[in-house]
Amino acid sequence: MILQIQKGENNPVLRKKTQTIDKIDEGILQLVKDMIETMNKNSGVGLSANQIGRNIRLFVVHPNLSKKTVFINPKIYKASKKKIISEEGCLSVPGVYKKLQRAKSLKIEAVDENDKQFKLKAKDLLARVIQHELDHLNGILIIDKNE
Ligand code: ZN
Repeated sequence: MILQIQKGENNPVLRKKTQTIDKIDEGILQLVKDMIETMNKNSGVGLSANQIGRNIRLFVVHPNLSKKTVFINPKIYKASKKKIISEEGCLSVPGVYKKLQRAKSLKIEAVDENDKQFKLKAKDLLARVIQHELDHLNGILIIDKNE
């Protein structure tokens, strides 16, 4: 099912810090499927749960970018000092593109859709998408960030 994307820089749903997921149940698994479908339909490379109105710590990334696509309760535990500047857009603030500095590479820990904890090394575009989506889960949008 295609879900509606929450939009607007002052949208309260996008501005709230999201909550840890305690249990991966049928509802979460269905949500993951719907989020992937919604991301693809909108030609996105990532989508976070609060972007479709759910206040929980979950995001998905496009399978072209990563072998891991579902990130539940994600945590970046290492980020490179080296930064890269590149232009970013966001499905929740359409029409806005901003050149942002992001860590070139990082290490992230999360739980997947099978309730399995994993660690992943990411660089370049994948690292950027992960940082963008984690910002979402903390209520931060690209318009808040300095170039
Ligand atoms: Zn976004």
